[in-house]
Amino acid sequence: MNHREWHIDRNPPDGFNPGDVSPPFLPQGTWSVQSLALDVSGSCNLACRYCAEDASQPKRQPMDIETMGSALDFIFPHGKITRNTSLRFGSGEPLLAFPLLKMADERIKKICTDSRSRYPEVFITTNGTLIDNEVSEWLISSGWHLKISFDGPRSIHDSWRVTPGNCGTYNRIKPVIKKLAKQMQDRLSVTAVLCKGADPQKVFDEIENMGVNRIEMVPVVHHKMSILPDSSDIELYREFVQGYARRFLQKKGKKIPVLVRFAERVCRVMGYNNLRVPCGAGRSFYGVGQDGTVYPCFRFIGIKDYVLGNLRSGLDNEAVYKFRSGAGKPYDERIACRDCWAAPLCGGPCFSCAELFGPGKGEPLDIHCAYSLTDARVAIWLVGQLRKREPERLLSFLPGVSRLYEEESLISKTT
Ligand code: SF4
Ligand code: SF4
Repeated sequence: MNHREWHIDRNPPDGFNPGDVSPPFLPQGTWSVQSLALDVSGSCNLACRYCAEDASQPKRQPMDIETMGSALDFIFPHGKITRNTSLRFGSGEPLLAFPLLKMADERIKKICTDSRSRYPEVFITTNGTLIDNEVSEWLISSGWHLKISFDGPRSIHDSWRVTPGNCGTYNRIKPVIKKLAKQMQDRLSVTAVLCKGADPQKVFDEIENMGVNRIEMVPVVHHKMSILPDSSDIELYREFVQGYARRFLQKKGKKIPVLVRFAERVCRVMGYNNLRVPCGAGRSFYGVGQDGTVYPCFRFIGIKDYVLGNLRSGLDNEAVYKFRSGAGKPYDERIACRDCWAAPLCGGPCFSCAELFGPGKGEPLDIHCAYSLTDARVAIWLVGQLRKREPERLLSFLPGVSRLYEEESLISKTT
């Protein structure tokens, strides 16, 4: 793949000084593990044409009850649930292992009762096709956070998100999202993957019209150039984010859904939650495979070179430190990021994207930089405008994005 295909304006906006929002250096010592992602099903019932897991991870098996129990013991040591600990079910299609998820929920509730703790944050990422009445009622009452993957209008969604028999899934997922958007509100978010030819404005409008309050748009990652957005897609994305920021500024009409990644950039422009890494993978967050093997995050599960330990024997400190200084190194140790004005707003490349799909040596994919720089530029503009006109509205970004920091940035992002 040619990684220098896209024209990227690498000059900072006038008046922006990255030094003003530069985060501190990362601590070298032990980090407390706050979150685990469990690969419960080890497989998926769809055959999405852009699937990054399918392109990079080996075939895997479902998790058994004992391993699930070990994972809960690991993340809640001695039955203790702390305020920041969370669990994520996200690799493959977790609802293929629905009985195991229900057992996990029952076990966590018991731990809560015994330890008199509040229920921890639990997140599930699903393609939505297995959510029938029973599953949706259970999800609504569980208190879990739900992330459904959905790519917008039928013409876009059904080009990519298909069954193994090549059928589109739009008709199955849309009614599920509309129902759960009403009943779960901010506990539901929808993630759309942007591939070549997907107009972000149309994608956003479709999801907003379904009543969704939290929308995440992520550029696809893949080896195939035919799937990746091109320069005209990036231009459309720039127009879309600018339009979103203008709409936010004008504050006309109904409530605007949170554009999750952009909101995170806005927060960082104000100097909050800036980090030298994109997430907590290999530090505060780990992924767990079917046999209890531990990896930096769910995207590395099953790949031998990234094994960082085992639930039963614990983390292998040597492997963890090697990861943190190699695949998981901070942005100031990456050549492209060291010279990048947006680094304090970006945090550097997703470790797995750089490792498994990038040009090598930990350098980022240009296509992802193009999206990050666009978000950063527009976020700087919006913060500048709000500071002049209505500075109090900037505060509205802080609680939501503080939550992002805990839930999505330091701990995990599901892309
Ligand atoms: S990954 Fe982020 S920090 Fe690194 S060069 Fe790209 S935009 Fe800049
Ligand atoms: S950003 Fe997400 S996918 Fe990438 S390394 Fe971090 S946790 Fe893994």
